[in-house]
Amino acid sequence: MNVEEFRKYGKEVIDYICEYGSNIEERDVAPTLDPGYLKKLLPADAPQSAESFKDVLEDFEQKIMPGVVHWNHPKFFAYFPSGNSFPSVLGDMLSSAIGSIGFSWASCPAAAELETIVMNWYAKALGLPKAFVSDAPGSTGGGALQGSASECVLVSLITARARAISELKGQTSVHDSVFLPNLIAYASREAHSSVEKATKMALVKLRIIDADERGRMRVDLLQQAIQNDVNAGLTPFFVVATVGTTGGCAFDDISEIGKVCRQVSSIWLHVDGAYAGNSFILPEMRVFSAGLEYADSFNTNPNKLLLTNFDASALWVRDVMTLKSALNVNPLYLRHEHMNGVDYRHYGIPLSRRFRALKLWFVFRTYGVQGLQEYIRNHMVLAKKFEMLVRKDERFEVRNDVHLGLVCFRMRTGDEPNHLLLAQINHSGKMHMTPAVFNGRYVIRFCVTYEQATEKDILDAWSQIKGFAEEILRDAQLEISSAPATPETERTSSEPVAVTGKPPIKKILTRTKSLRFSFTRSISREQFQSQSEHLMDGCTPILVVDPKTIQQSFQQAAEDNQNNNITKLKDISDVDTDEASN
Ligand code: PLP
Repeated sequence: MNVEEFRKYGKEVIDYICEYGSNIEERDVAPTLDPGYLKKLLPADAPQSAESFKDVLEDFEQKIMPGVVHWNHPKFFAYFPSGNSFPSVLGDMLSSAIGSIGFSWASCPAAAELETIVMNWYAKALGLPKAFVSDAPGSTGGGALQGSASECVLVSLITARARAISELKGQTSVHDSVFLPNLIAYASREAHSSVEKATKMALVKLRIIDADERGRMRVDLLQQAIQNDVNAGLTPFFVVATVGTTGGCAFDDISEIGKVCRQVSSIWLHVDGAYAGNSFILPEMRVFSAGLEYADSFNTNPNKLLLTNFDASALWVRDVMTLKSALNVNPLYLRHEHMNGVDYRHYGIPLSRRFRALKLWFVFRTYGVQGLQEYIRNHMVLAKKFEMLVRKDERFEVRNDVHLGLVCFRMRTGDEPNHLLLAQINHSGKMHMTPAVFNGRYVIRFCVTYEQATEKDILDAWSQIKGFAEEILRDAQLEISSAPATPETERTSSEPVAVTGKPPIKKILTRTKSLRFSFTRSISREQFQSQSEHLMDGCTPILVVDPKTIQQSFQQAAEDNQNNNITKLKDISDVDTDEASN
């Protein structure tokens, strides 16, 4: 492609992107397709001779777009936001155009230096402790961009492991691996699965600590577990606290966790704020960042809540030298005459690094800190609105504390009708949501994600959700009647509860008629079990046709309520890496 063709098609692509964004609501938010759809549409081999770019673009619209989930759709309420914006896309375009591979200062001085500057802007905008800000007086810390939060967790864990092994080893020449069986890491059962993955990769034990009813790590259990492990001769070396858990956006108490970690010198405290860490840009959210001064490392994804498109994850450490010495290799072919400049290859796993700081720099400059604050506040207001709507309807309940953009809700029935509700929602193509288990219960996650989300988006979504729920309850002939409140139904919101005056409701379900469901796609339980990896992602609407199970589920729910049965949580579950749960 020559420059003139690039100019022509480049403009066409920009026009396409503008049209796409402006008319996105005309598209279904997520497709209803079966795996393998694209294989049927594309040839098995790459073309031998060049094809016209026009044909490529046409095929993009005809064949690729139908298989796209539109993460920037106003009715995309799944996962966490994908953090996209025009300034970020433009910054990324320039990064792609420059195409530099900035692993060292010498390989792209601007990339190295901008990354340092932007990471310091970002740290200060979030109000992080000065120890993480590389240009703060006396600081030994600093930050670097990584490809994902999972990478941030892994890099932190590897650094912590290296530090702990070095302390255990002292001056001996014993091989590092000898100490691995001694090392033990800790995370709450609500922590992201990337922690488990990191411990698997690093061949160390992970102890899962139970969470309280609000999804926060139980600090008393952490303390007890650490003490027991020390007594048993193990070396606690890594604790992960989460601010904004994936399942319910719960905030661990990092102050209290930090105090416990300080009692054992071998412990490295990592705080994972992949989504919610960005909210510390709001002074009113910093109540949840109190205690970060105890952390050895902290990560957050601007590609989740800071309008920066994937990939962009920020990792800060209090002691850059410890990080670098864990990851440092220095072959001759990478040395250069300015080794006193920052070489980000020592801050992470890959050697090659994209010029990611550019898009973040574009975002900070075009929105300003205030613009970013307004964006997040809008999400918070809209999530509160949705929470209020759900709480007002006695057939539903909200299960999490809504502090940011995530509301975890469910019908006050057994799980099966809620599976059906999510299937209906996603099958409609008009909204997209994902499931989670929060505090032992199946919930539907409703997360505000769209950059320009409005109250109308929320009201429309709620009205459709209610419509589907009514259909399910009617078809299943479920009645929800009043009964004394359980501690669960009494859980308070951080906003005034909207149902004041009404008797607290409790579900006593009666099934009076055979079940009837109208779905376009239904499968047997056997099929469901054999394909569950594909089906349980919340994207594929399905009905598992098994009335017996559904009936059992209703009965179970009724019994649970009658017994006022709150799931008893295991205090601590001790898992080796190969036993840990997802
Ligand atoms: N940590 C938390 C709290 C998350 O919510 C997620 C993903 O949603 C991750 C880590 C993993 O993020 P990534 O996909 O960037 O690895």
